[in-house]
Amino acid sequence: MDITIRKRVPPDLLRFTFYFLPREARMDQTPAYGMTLDDWIEWMEEHDQPKFRAKQVVEWLFQKRVTSFDEMTNLSHDLREQLKEKFTIGLLPSVRLTGSKDTTRKFLFRLHDGRLIETVKIPANANFDGERSGRITLCVSSQVGCAYDCKFCASGLAGFTRNLSAGEIVGQVMTAEYETGDSIRNIVFMGMGEPLANLTNLTKALTILNADWGMNLGARHMTVSTSGLAPQIEKLAKIPMQIRLAISLHGATDKVREQIMPVNKKYNINRLFDALQVWLRHKKQMITLEYILIEGINDSLDQAKILAMRANSLHAKVNLIPYNTVEGLPWKRPDIPAQDAFLNVLSKANITATIRREKGHDIDAACGQLRLQEEDLPSLEASVSDSPA
Ligand code: SAH
Repeated sequence: MDITIRKRVPPDLLRFTFYFLPREARMDQTPAYGMTLDDWIEWMEEHDQPKFRAKQVVEWLFQKRVTSFDEMTNLSHDLREQLKEKFTIGLLPSVRLTGSKDTTRKFLFRLHDGRLIETVKIPANANFDGERSGRITLCVSSQVGCAYDCKFCASGLAGFTRNLSAGEIVGQVMTAEYETGDSIRNIVFMGMGEPLANLTNLTKALTILNADWGMNLGARHMTVSTSGLAPQIEKLAKIPMQIRLAISLHGATDKVREQIMPVNKKYNINRLFDALQVWLRHKKQMITLEYILIEGINDSLDQAKILAMRANSLHAKVNLIPYNTVEGLPWKRPDIPAQDAFLNVLSKANITATIRREKGHDIDAACGQLRLQEEDLPSLEASVSDSPA
C-alpha cells in the first residue's frame, strides 16, 4: 500500500497520535469510490468494453478491497492502464489518528486538494442515540466547514469551503475500516457540514454505501442529521431507501430556536414539521429529534413541555445532548439535576427520550466539536514538507 508511517508519537494514557504521509494524487482524476455500478457500466460502454467489466471493478473495490488498479488481475493490461489514468482509488490515508480512553477514534483526513476533514469512530457499546448497541458507528462529514452558522457549533466557525464528493464520503468509511480493521455497520451524518445542503452527492454516497455490490450497509443503519432544510427533507423522503432521519431541533419555539439556529428564519418550525410529515408518509422508521441542552438558552421546563407536544405530533423520539463546550464559545451545559428535570417532563408525557452521554470528549471528538483547529495546519504542513522525497 502507498501509506508510509512516518512518525510515531509515543502513546500517553489518554492520547496517541500517528502521522501518515498523504498519497500523491492528481486533481484531474475521478475518485473510484464515488462511482455507482451504473456509472461504471456507462463508462465501460463508452470505452468499448463489455458490461460485465463494471461488475468486476466494483468487486475489486468493495469486496476484495484492492488499493490499486494493478491488482485487478482479471482486467486486461490496457484497460487497467486506462483506469489508472482516469481514476484514483481514493483511499484517503489519515494524516492523523487520535484515540481516546473510551476507544473513540478521531481521523483527520487530507483530501486531494489539501483540505482536511474529520471522521469519528464511536465504540460499539454506545451508539449515537444512547442505546446499547453491538455495532461500531462512524460519524462522517459531508462538507468541508459549514455555512449554517449555528451559534453553538464548532464546525461553522471557520465558514464553509466546499461540498464533499460522493467518493470522499464513501472514502471515509472505506478508509476507517481499512485503517482499524473493524467492520463499520452504522453510519451517522453528524460530522462536519450540513448533509442536506449537499443532497446530490449525499444521495449518491448513500446508494453506494447501501448497494449489495457496494458496502452493503443496511439503510436502517444510516442516519442523516439535518439542521432542518425543509425542501431537501421532502426530496430525501422520496428516495427509495429506508434511511433514518435526525433533526437538530434545539429549540421548541421559533423564538428560542432562531436565536441559536439562523436556518430557522428561512424554515421555521411549522414549515419544518410539514416536511417531517412528508417524511413520515414515505418512511417506516421513527424520526429522532435532537435537542442540545444549553444552560439558560433552551433548557427551561416550558421548552420541555412544548418539545413533548411537538415530538408527540410526529411520534418521534427525543435525544437530549448535554452541550459540549467549544473553545471560544460562551455556552455551557446545565447541571445534572436540571438535565434530569428536563428529561422528566418528556418521560411524563410518554415520549421516548434519552440523554446521550457523549464519548470522545478528551480528544474533541464529541458532537459539534469537529472542526479544523488552525494550529493543526502548520504542524501538518511541516510533517509533510520535511518528509523524504
Ligand atoms: N448539520 C447537521 C449535522 C452536523 S452536527 C445537523 O445540524 O444536524 C451533528 C449534531 O451535533 C447536531 O445535532 C448539532 O446540532 C450537534 N452539535 C453541534 N454543536 C454541538 C455541541 N457543542 N455540543 C453538542 N452537540 C452539538
